[in-house]
Amino acid sequence: MPRLERPTDQPIPGGGSMFDIVLIGAGVVGSAIARVLSQYRCTVAVIEKESDVGMAASSRNSGVIHAGINYAPDSLRARFCMQGRKLLLTWCDELNVPYKVCGKLIVAPSEEEVPGLRRLRSTGEANGVPGLAIIGPNEITELQPGIKAVAALHVPSSGIVSPYAMTLAMAEEAAVNGVTFLLECEATQIRPVDGGYAVDTDRGTVSGRWVINSAGIHAGHLAQTIDPEAPDLYPCVGEYLILDKQVGESLAMSVYPAPPVGGAGLGVHITPTTEGNVLLGPSDEYVSDPETTSCAGKTADQLLEEAMIMWPALPRHLVIGAYAGIRAKRTSPSVGGFGDFLIRQTPSADRVVHLIGIESPGLTAAPAIADYVVHEILHANEPLVQKPLSEVVHRPWSTRFDDLPEEEKERLVAKDPNYGDIICRCEGVTKHELLHALNNPLGVKTLTGIKYRCRATMGRCSGGYCLPRMVEILQEEHGWEPDDFVLRGPSSPAFAGRLIEERHD
Ligand SMILES: Cc1cc2nc3c(=O)[nH]c(=O)nc-3n(C[C@H](O)[C@H](O)[C@H](O)COP(=O)(O)OP(=O)(O)OC[C@H]3O[C@@H](n4cnc5c(N)ncnc54)[C@H](O)[C@@H]3O)c2cc1C
Repeated sequence: MPRLERPTDQPIPGGGSMFDIVLIGAGVVGSAIARVLSQYRCTVAVIEKESDVGMAASSRNSGVIHAGINYAPDSLRARFCMQGRKLLLTWCDELNVPYKVCGKLIVAPSEEEVPGLRRLRSTGEANGVPGLAIIGPNEITELQPGIKAVAALHVPSSGIVSPYAMTLAMAEEAAVNGVTFLLECEATQIRPVDGGYAVDTDRGTVSGRWVINSAGIHAGHLAQTIDPEAPDLYPCVGEYLILDKQVGESLAMSVYPAPPVGGAGLGVHITPTTEGNVLLGPSDEYVSDPETTSCAGKTADQLLEEAMIMWPALPRHLVIGAYAGIRAKRTSPSVGGFGDFLIRQTPSADRVVHLIGIESPGLTAAPAIADYVVHEILHANEPLVQKPLSEVVHRPWSTRFDDLPEEEKERLVAKDPNYGDIICRCEGVTKHELLHALNNPLGVKTLTGIKYRCRATMGRCSGGYCLPRMVEILQEEHGWEPDDFVLRGPSSPAFAGRLIEERHD
């Protein structure tokens, strides 16, 4: 059998060819920019160091659509949060990405925290956030039973979105509309060349007339290769616990504490996910390794303890998993708190644009950041030509089979028996969905990539049932060799070796 094709088999476009725009980093921000650009007549290459898009902060966050109460009114965070929230809901409708405007409660466990709620309310009102109200214990219980607090700020316009589905859907739509994605390709330097800029990578050089640096936690030091005055970024890890869907049935909206003064995050919150689970977290701890994603047992205890101040009866035995994400902070550990987003055109090379310190609410703000970069920087500098609508392909995210009405399920099973073959019991994933995930337009073949696209292995058994079934299908029907099974990329093989020799009776 031939070896499975890998992203590194795709040659780097060299030989003097120059893209109109080279984007570095395919998180939610880079993918949003790629989506907007794919609606124009221009050539775009996206350089991404991982084997798939959205594998860093963009899939490792709370998935909360922020309303705009936490940011100083004259800041870019406030502006892009307010504009981004509106655009995000429209984009989710266009892309069929799951979201819910379920609202949020910010709770004061004691009278001491009530002034903090008032401050948030006035900031929110200055930013134009609608419907903010400080409510008492009875109204809290009506909205969310089980919460212990003397008062809460109700933020009805807050919501939740599937962060990884959002990023993948935007990138996949950009790819079908002609954007070139170079995965497993790490940018190391940006430098001027005749007619534009060269981005040196570990696989060769990609050149562009414009370069957009959207490399998340690495955006600062990558910027410094051409723009020595660009600021440093400080990694700050946020760990989460995932609770079983049983818990999701009793949580209607996100519940946050009043934000800790000077803290690096918004405090440990309890939030539902669009898939029905519940998240507890995140912690906030500055770290030296910007790639760390490990979770510690002692942090888990601390997250449970803090969440149970707000929800004393929280069923702590229903924790089914954990994950961690890295904040790209502009404020050092000694300063703490939050810095503003920085969108910086290099003074000596103004067609190299750096997006630095895009921490929370970067997920909410991503569509507005993309709109700003494309229209107010690129287009304002040299007009881009829009493609006619008939040329733009829409690629909606697939509705999960499990979420379809019974009659529709029956119709699909009659059409294709692969819909009737449930390969993941916890999440109700069908063989059809597995194969659809495998045929993604980015050519991603990692097990994590398949997981994010169809949710197989995301349930409470963590792959105990579905992983062997997936392996069987991919080996027997698609000719995968053991070495082809990798989790996140080539450095994480799924199989270490064979324990027993195959028997040929
Ligand atoms: C714990 C936590 C909770 C959060 N909660 C929320 C929330 O609820 N709501 C909200 O709105 N926001 C939230 N955020 C913020 C949000 O997740 C981020 O602002 C957003 O994901 C940033 O997107 P990005 O594309 O800039 O960065 P990233 O997602 O980090 O993407 C950067 C990409 O660049 C790639 N890359 C890096 N270096 C290179 C290189 N040298 N060459 C090629 N590729 C490279 C990376 O692999 C990555 O794919 C949270 C963040 C964290 C960490």
